[in-house]
Amino acid sequence: MNAQQSLDLKARIRTIPDFPSPGIQFRDMMPLLADAQGHAQAIAGLIEGLAPGSIDAVAAIEARGFLLAGGVARALGCGLVPVRKPGKLPGFTLGLNYALEYGTDRLEIQQDALKPGDRVLLVDDLIATGGTAEAAARLIGQTGARLEAIRFLIDLPALGGMTTLKAQGWDCAALIAFD
Ligand code: AMP
Repeated sequence: MNAQQSLDLKARIRTIPDFPSPGIQFRDMMPLLADAQGHAQAIAGLIEGLAPGSIDAVAAIEARGFLLAGGVARALGCGLVPVRKPGKLPGFTLGLNYALEYGTDRLEIQQDALKPGDRVLLVDDLIATGGTAEAAARLIGQTGARLEAIRFLIDLPALGGMTTLKAQGWDCAALIAFD
């Protein structure tokens, strides 16, 4: 293990209480991204175990997923495809509505962003209930592309999202967990 690999990534995540609303412990990855070595180690960790040439595109979930996905795509030598909130992407899009605790939300992807058979890695900053990642996974499925793996920087295991996604058969993992 070299010096870069031995950094404590978790120590570089800042917890902000009651943001964006009371009762939420917001896990802020910005101090990690601001640290050049921590940032590089996070990107290296997110692609660990993925064989060179095994991924055709990195799909990134708005908005903090975008901040990780550029480095991940660069490291894998493949392209980047954004999965965005409704109305943000120009041109023809595919969309998928999904349930939240209160109400619904929607994710969209450009219709021609992925080709049938493309091998995709989905990336986001954090998994909580897993609703967002599950919706993104289904949306990627609608394009005919093949979701190979899902990677997060942070898991909140108490909220069960990772367990749910694994039970559905997805290859998913996170680098850091906050109990
Ligand atoms: P979920 O769909 O419940 O898995 O929520 C995951 C999404 O919400 C991710 O895109 C995160 O950026 C965001 N999120 C949820 N909870 C937190 C938290 N405690 N701190 C930071 N981001 C969060």
